[in-house]
Formats: sequence, C-alpha cells, structure tokens
Amino acid sequence: MVPDLKTALAPNLDQRQAQSLYRYRRVLEGPQGPEIQVDGRRVWTFCSNDYLGLANHPKIRVAFMQGVQEYGVGSGAAHLVTGHSRAHHELEEALAEFVGRPRALLFSTGYLANLGVISALLGHQDAVFEDRLNHASLLDGGLLAGARFKRYRHRDCQALEAALAARRARRKLVVTDGVFSMDGDLAPLPELATVARHFDAWLLVDDAHGLGVLGEGGRGSLAHWGLGMAQVPILVGTLGKALGTFGAFVAGEEALVETLIQQARTYIYTTAPPPAVAAATLASLRLAEAESWRREKLAHLIAQFRQGAAQLGLQLMDSQTPIQPLLVGDSAAALKLSESLLARGMLITAIRPPTVPAGSARLRITLTAAHSETQVERLLEALAESL
Ligand SMILES: *Cc1c(COP(=O)(O)O)cnc(C)c1O
Repeated sequence: MVPDLKTALAPNLDQRQAQSLYRYRRVLEGPQGPEIQVDGRRVWTFCSNDYLGLANHPKIRVAFMQGVQEYGVGSGAAHLVTGHSRAHHELEEALAEFVGRPRALLFSTGYLANLGVISALLGHQDAVFEDRLNHASLLDGGLLAGARFKRYRHRDCQALEAALAARRARRKLVVTDGVFSMDGDLAPLPELATVARHFDAWLLVDDAHGLGVLGEGGRGSLAHWGLGMAQVPILVGTLGKALGTFGAFVAGEEALVETLIQQARTYIYTTAPPPAVAAATLASLRLAEAESWRREKLAHLIAQFRQGAAQLGLQLMDSQTPIQPLLVGDSAAALKLSESLLARGMLITAIRPPTVPAGSARLRITLTAAHSETQVERLLEALAESL
C-alpha cells in the first residue's frame, strides 16, 4: 500500500516547529534595497547580500532591458546546444580579465558551479578536504563527487595539514570559502595555499562574499591576499551577491575550463541563464570595478557599526567584512530577537541550524553601500532596545 504522504511527513514538520527550526518565507513587493516592502509594511533590512547596493541600480536595469530587446527572454537551450549567446560569451571574457585568469565559465548559480566543478575534478580514488564552515554547496559537491571526504576545523591549517598527511589519494583538493558566509571572517588563504602545495593538493576558493567587496577594484579575496593562479588554481565567484544580479563562474586555466565544459554535469545538463542576465551582469561588473566609493562607504559603515556595537557591549564575531553576525546561540531566542527588531521596523532574519552549527543561531546582520549612517545608528538603537 502507498503510505499516506501527510502522515509520513507530518512528524518531521512538527518536530521542526517544536525546535524553533521551522522556516518561512516573507513576500517582498518591489525591488531590493535598504528599505523594502514586506508582508504589507515598509521595513529597513540588514540581511541581504547586495553588498554594493547594485541589485536595483538604474544602469543595470537598463542593461537588463536592452538585453531583453536584443535576445528576448529565454535562452532556449543548454550552453552546448543553442543557449550560449554573445552576451554570455562577453561576460565570460570580462570575468576572466577581471580576476586575471585565462578563462572563466558561467554557471547558472553558485550552487551548481560548486557541485559541477568538484564532481568534474574528483572521483572515488580522490580526496577532498573542506573547512567545517564551508558553504553547503561545497560540502554537497564533495559528497556528490564520491571522493573521500574530510572536514577540518574552521580556519585551522594544522588540522588540514594532519588530514592531508594521513590520506593517500590520486588527487587531493582543498576547498574553502574565501569569506565565510555566516561568520564573515576570512580564510587564511596564504597559509592554506602553502599547506596545499606541500601535500600536492589543489586549492579551490569560493569567493561568493569577497568578490566585489575585497581587494583592489573589488577583485576579491585573492587580490586582498595578493594570491594568483599558482597558489589558487580554481576560483569560484558568484554574481547574485555584491554584483547584484544572478549566476556564477569558475575561473582558471584553459584546461580547467575545457574540462568543465566536457564534464561538469551541472553545466551540461541545464538550460543556460537568460542572456539579458549576462548583459546586466556585464554592466554591474563595470560599475563594481569603477565605483570604489561603494567599497569605501561600506568600510566606513562597518567601522561605525562595530564601534557602536562595542559601546553597547554586543558580542560580535571577528569580522571586518559586511557580514556582522550577532551570535545568540539558542534558536528560539534568535527568533524572538528577530521578531522584536521587526516590531521596530528592522528586518534581520534569524539564521539557525543546520545552516549554522547547533547552538550557534544568530542574526546575520549585513551592511551594504546603499545603507546610510543614520540607518546604521538606528539599527544600533533598535538592538540596544531589543536585547
Ligand atoms: C551564496 C553562496 C553560494 C551559492 O551561490 P548561488 O548563486 O546563490 O547559488 C555558494 N557559495 C557561497 C560561499 C555562498 O555564500
């Protein structure tokens, strides 16, 4: 007999409710920005990844609409069939140049890029070494590849070294976020690169939160640390965060990108993103690179927030990036704090397990170049009143 679906699923849903782990969506009206309309009211938000404030920029909107005029809406097919447009191709060339690598390959999302690149490079005879706090897509990529899988302690190069020394494998791949998505701290890339090289392992950096934000011209974590392809042969970047649009890419040498075109299943077996999105991203890449005032303003707001939070005695994490999480611990308490802030017109969603480790629920506060000093000041006041 076919089991009743509701009866089978209800216990897990009920348990999530009871543990304050149930997830809901809010319905937004209108565009992204520091002030949004959500569930029928206007609120200020401090939890998007639109770090440079580009998601609703007039020039990027125009580029998007021009892209639609030129290419229509749908791409019609996968990149390897008839889906790869001039707009996609130009964006790949621009991204490669931006990060200083021979080639870049567009993927539909960062999640797909990470699954695709790791599983194209590794198989059963290989081993992957991942920071414990890596993004879910990197962990899933390692598991999908069928490689031996080892997680090392957060930012702990000695733990990585021990793990690498203990494992024999055909290929070894060390995988890390450049900026950790839920904590905002940086991976110690120079040390990781040294350790990886010592054990003949490749290093993959996912710079979803560094690209556009860190380094000269917003070139990301690698530029921040002064590292190139010799130290980090495989670079993943995403376009839906600081660049304000949608999509992702993998950048590296010719042989890497050609291998992905032949073998990355999440590249091959999926429809190419709308060409207009690529056209919009090309415009946003130009803006992000040229308008360094956005990064300067962001740095100023981050300093203002951290200084204010220290005066209030808030326990912030060790982060100099736009990601400024306020650790709460208990999931129910994090939800309660989030609700109390919402009552004061500030939307910051509570991040709970399994997105973060058990017992480390938090408000993941993020700042953007589109926020004002006044908004940051008011956020600090609202936090003081809610805690
Ligand atoms: C957001 C994120 C991704 C996923 O990118 P999408 O384009 O949103 O699928 C991958 N890696 C990290 C570190 C991220 O923060």
